[in-house]
Amino acid sequence: MHASSVYNFAAGPGVMPREVLLEAQRELLDCRRSGMSILEMPFTGAEFQNIADQARRDLRELLELPPHYHVLFLPGGASTQFSLLPMNLLPPDGRADYVDTGHWSRKAIAEARRYVSVNVAASGAQHGYSRLPCRRYWQLDPQAGYCHITSNETADGLAYHRLPDTRGVPLVADMTSDFLSRPLDVERFGVIYAGAQKNVGPAGLTLVIIRDDLLQTAWPACPAALSYRVQIDSDNRFNTPPIQAIYLAGLVFRWLRSQGGLKAMAARNRRKSEALYSYIDASDFYACDRQVADRSRMNVCFHLAVPTLTAEFVEQARCQGLLNLQGHPAVGGLRASLYNAMSEAGVDALIAFMETFAARHGRARRRCG
Ligand SMILES: *Cc1c(COP(=O)(O)O)cnc(C)c1O
Repeated sequence: MHASSVYNFAAGPGVMPREVLLEAQRELLDCRRSGMSILEMPFTGAEFQNIADQARRDLRELLELPPHYHVLFLPGGASTQFSLLPMNLLPPDGRADYVDTGHWSRKAIAEARRYVSVNVAASGAQHGYSRLPCRRYWQLDPQAGYCHITSNETADGLAYHRLPDTRGVPLVADMTSDFLSRPLDVERFGVIYAGAQKNVGPAGLTLVIIRDDLLQTAWPACPAALSYRVQIDSDNRFNTPPIQAIYLAGLVFRWLRSQGGLKAMAARNRRKSEALYSYIDASDFYACDRQVADRSRMNVCFHLAVPTLTAEFVEQARCQGLLNLQGHPAVGGLRASLYNAMSEAGVDALIAFMETFAARHGRARRRCG
């Protein structure tokens, strides 16, 4: 199989822009004419500092980030932030609201409970996580130090398309799987964090964006290298940052700017996901049972009317160069992740394959259109 004829629908690490990979390959032995590979660069040197500064500037521009928000490049993945949020944002007797919308918010809740008192303000459990919990019934704690949401549930295929009103309580969002997929009203958030390996690219890097007034001294038990305050005070150089991942993320930020920024991404992501959802909805061979208003544009979760064919679907798709279409193990079914770097041609190829597969199995009747 040749890389240029393959479409990778993996949920994470996910597809990277080809231009970015080519550039990283070109520069691997000699990064920015330094004579060094990015793998060999001292993190305190001017060469890497330029790379990190540029990445930070490009990210700030993409998000139109106001000056009172800090950007941190941290190691450890989004799961590490599940524990770091309470230790960095709350006192030891603190309270936090969490909204349970699926697999990843449950993980965040379980971890936060080890540290602070957690109020699950609402849960999608009673609807089998087929939709977001209705806003009217959220039971927010006015004393909570923050309210945590998962803006895109990667495994369940749900996303917020309208932000909740938390009545002055700082909103904290795990944006791991939709960060930079659309423009963001940053000022609505206290903290945004994202593991980079879904929609940004390289694993090993977590982006944390934090509003200045929320910064405080972390708990004594919090590792200094993972304290937001310590890292900000040391210019994100308290210890060796994940420098190759930062370099690659910087190339992705550049690429996003060259593609027209987040507005252009949002329009393209909407077209891609609408094409796939409308094909699925019109078919009686495939189905998506997520409520239309809450469907993710990043992770399209669906299933076959004949679930016994799922493994065969995934395998035949793989043979056609359409990779990693199996659903999350905790959820089952199928999932196509349509991150920024997935082209519209990739979605067209997937739909064409789905048509052929359905026709071959004799259940291709279209309900309408
Ligand atoms: C993948 C994912 C995580 C976990 O990320 P790690 O970097 O592997 O810890 C957390 N939240 C969401 C929404 C995810 O998609």
